[in-house]
Amino acid sequence: MNSSTFRLAALLWPALLLAADPSGAMEARLAQLRANPPALYAFLLRMPKGGDLHNHLTGAVYAESYLDAAAEDGLCANLRAGSLVLPNQDGGCAEGDVPAARAARDNALRNELIDSFSMRAFVPGTESAHDHFFGAFAKFNAVKAGHRGAFLAELTRRAAEQNESYLEVMAINGKPANPLADKIGLNTDFDRGREQLLAGGLDAVVEQLHARLDDTEKSRRAALGCDAEPNSPACRVAVRYLFEVLRESPANQVFAEALAGFRLAAVDPLLVGVSFVQPEDGAISMRDYHLHMRIVEYLRKTYPKIHVTLHAGELAPGLVPPEGLRFHIREAVEIAGAERIGHGVDLAYETDSEGLLLLMRRKRILVEINLTSNDLILGVRGNQHPLPEYLKAGVPVAISTDDEGVSRTHLTQELLRAAIDYRLSYAELKEMARNSLQYAFVEEAEKARLRKDLEERFRAFEKPPAIE
Ligand SMILES: [Zn+2]
Repeated sequence: MNSSTFRLAALLWPALLLAADPSGAMEARLAQLRANPPALYAFLLRMPKGGDLHNHLTGAVYAESYLDAAAEDGLCANLRAGSLVLPNQDGGCAEGDVPAARAARDNALRNELIDSFSMRAFVPGTESAHDHFFGAFAKFNAVKAGHRGAFLAELTRRAAEQNESYLEVMAINGKPANPLADKIGLNTDFDRGREQLLAGGLDAVVEQLHARLDDTEKSRRAALGCDAEPNSPACRVAVRYLFEVLRESPANQVFAEALAGFRLAAVDPLLVGVSFVQPEDGAISMRDYHLHMRIVEYLRKTYPKIHVTLHAGELAPGLVPPEGLRFHIREAVEIAGAERIGHGVDLAYETDSEGLLLLMRRKRILVEINLTSNDLILGVRGNQHPLPEYLKAGVPVAISTDDEGVSRTHLTQELLRAAIDYRLSYAELKEMARNSLQYAFVEEAEKARLRKDLEERFRAFEKPPAIE
C-alpha cells in the first residue's frame, strides 16, 4: 500500500465505524466478549452473516451423516483404508471388511471412521495433514447419490441456525463431459475446439447436467419440506450453485468441463458461476495453471455474463517451489478475469504483491477467506495469514467455510477464529457479512432482496434489549 492509500484508509475508517454502529454499543460489546470466547461464540452465532460463498457439498457434510447414509445403502467399511466400500454381489462384506451399519452401535469403529473421514484428532505422521484432508473425499464417495438432497438439507439447516440467508454451494462438476473430451482431444485454437465439442454433442451433456442440478435442488427442497412450509427458517435460506471444473484433469478435459459449465450457467438460473477445484499444488494444476487461466479468459470472452470465482493462491512456501508461488492470484485476476478469489493465501509471495493488492482493491475482487481450511491444509495460521493485509488494503473479503464437514467447523466457528486471531472489529465483521451478499453471484433482484433483508436482520440484532 502506498502512503496515499494509507491516508485514505485512516480518513475513512472512523466514518465506517460510525455508520455501522452509531452508538458504538456493538463495538463495546464485542470488545468485552473477546475475553470470553464461549460468550463471543454465542454472540456471533446470533449475528446475521449474509452468505457462505465458498463451500463444497461433499466436504461440507459431516462424517456422522455419511455413516448414516452408508448404513442405509448397505455399504461396508474397509478398516485398513478407513473407507466405505461397496458390498459383494450377495450384499455381504468382503473378507476383513465390516458392515458400515455396525458404526451405529460400535463406538470404537465409529470414532475410527469419523477420524478417517475428517481432520478430527488428526496427528501427522507418515501421512501429512494436506494428504489426509484431500484423501478424505475418496473414503466416503461410495455413498449413493440419492442422499444429495438430504445432505444439502443438512447444510441449509445449519446455515439457517446461524442466521445465514444465502448459500452458494459447489455441488456439480464437469466429469460427464470427459468421454467426449477424450474423443476430441485438445485444440489450442479454442474457438475451433469449442466448435468441435459442440458438433460432437456437448450440449447433450449440458442437458444431462441441467436435469441433474434441477433434480438436486428439488430433492433438497423436498428433504426440507419447503412446499408445505416455505417460510421455515431453512426454506428461507436462498441456495444457488457453482460448477466445479476439475483442474487435476488432462487439459482437453479441463477445456470441455469448463465449456460445459459456462453453457450450463447460461441456461440454468440455479447455476450462478464456475469455479476450478482440486489441490492447486497438484502436478497437473501446477503444470497447466497458465493454460487454465487462458481457457477461462477465452470462455469469459465468449460468455461474458457468466460469473467466475477461482481457487487461487491456496499454496504455501515449501509446498511448491518458490517460482510456483509467484503468479497464481495475479493470473486469476488479470488473465482469467475472476471476480472472486478463493483463499488467496500466498499473496505475500506473489511478484509485486503490493501492486496486486491495489489491483484487487481497484477491481473490487472479493477474497473468500477460509481460515480453518488454510490452517489444516497449508499450515498457515495466525500472523502467517494474509487476512489483515487484505483488510488494510481495502480489498473486499468475506469469511467462508470451504469444507466444514472434513474440517469439523462451521461459519460461526470461522468468525470466532477471525474475531479472536485478528481482533476484528464489529464494523469489520458486519462489512464482511454485507460483502458476502454484495459479491454473491445470485441474480440481481434476489440479491437486492437479500441485502435489504440483511439490514433488517442487523437492525433486530443490534436493538438494545428491552429494560424490564
Ligand atoms: Zn475450496
